Amino acid sequence: MEQITRKAYAKINLGLDVMRRRPDGYHEVKMIMQTVGIYDILTFQRKERCEGIPQITIKLEQEDVLGTAPLKEDIPCDESNLIYKAAALIMKTYNIQESVEITLWKNIPVAAGMAGGSTDAAAVFHGLNEMFALSMNFETMKELGVLIGADVPYCIMGGTALSEGIGEILTPLPAPPPAHLLIAKPDIHVSTKFVYENLHADRLQFHPDIDGMMEALKAGNLVGIAQRMENVLETVTVREYPVIRQIKEEMKRNGALNALMSGSGPTVFGIYEDGETAKKAYEAVKAQRLAREIFVTDFVVL
Ligand code: ATP
Repeated sequence: MEQITRKAYAKINLGLDVMRRRPDGYHEVKMIMQTVGIYDILTFQRKERCEGIPQITIKLEQEDVLGTAPLKEDIPCDESNLIYKAAALIMKTYNIQESVEITLWKNIPVAAGMAGGSTDAAAVFHGLNEMFALSMNFETMKELGVLIGADVPYCIMGGTALSEGIGEILTPLPAPPPAHLLIAKPDIHVSTKFVYENLHADRLQFHPDIDGMMEALKAGNLVGIAQRMENVLETVTVREYPVIRQIKEEMKRNGALNALMSGSGPTVFGIYEDGETAKKAYEAVKAQRLAREIFVTDFVVL
């Protein structure tokens, strides 16, 4: 039977600013999003209906060759998985009366600030669009996607983008010049809700130079990009979790142009001009036991 396979790439934030908290509780953001080379794999397969009722089944698989895979118990396989939510929304919207089995090979760190769940949901939009020949265009996918999560529209698009509003206003940007990335997720649990609740957007002492970052991207200036890497959410997390600062310092001590927390954390990434330096920094972060989930990777141009 026909099987469709999709890669679901993780993202980092090269810059993250919060403009204000809206009366409805959502935060208005201004972020530079970038796809990176860590990905989950999803396969989609049609199945017989069970007692005439269309069903969505999620199977979780792992091949933990490097010992960096997320823990299985951290990933729900029920209705709370964003994969399920995306599939259920699409099947309801398009009145699909068949069952589907989705297998998830999970590599992206979970609850890490890398949009792992959102990118899986985005892959469901692409996968089911193809499987059931739904002819959803990007606009339609984006409108449905934002109902699942604020980062889903960006993940449907991927690449380099400015993300505004609550994440649904997207402007494609030129990709940064090639570079080597070291990505490390410390073994701590940081709640996104806690971070936003403890951020005082009206009292921020600084705002990242997102416009300058866009200029640096347009100019293909890697050093200019690195110099402007800032994330206002660090004002909350670095105070609570010193390991985030330690990883940043270790990455910079070992040759990173700069290092930053991604999203609401706790993942930290460092940018390196040279692959050998990135590998040495990987060994240093590992030797210090600052993180188990560590990757050397690069920017992905989609
Ligand atoms: P973001 O960067 O969008 O804030 P994140 O990297 O912080 O995302 P996720 O990896 O998406 O966070 O996981 C957050 C929580 O969502 C997890 O604790 C998990 O229980 C749940 N979850 C739901 N669906 C998924 C999924 N497909 N993959 C991983 N976690 C999922």
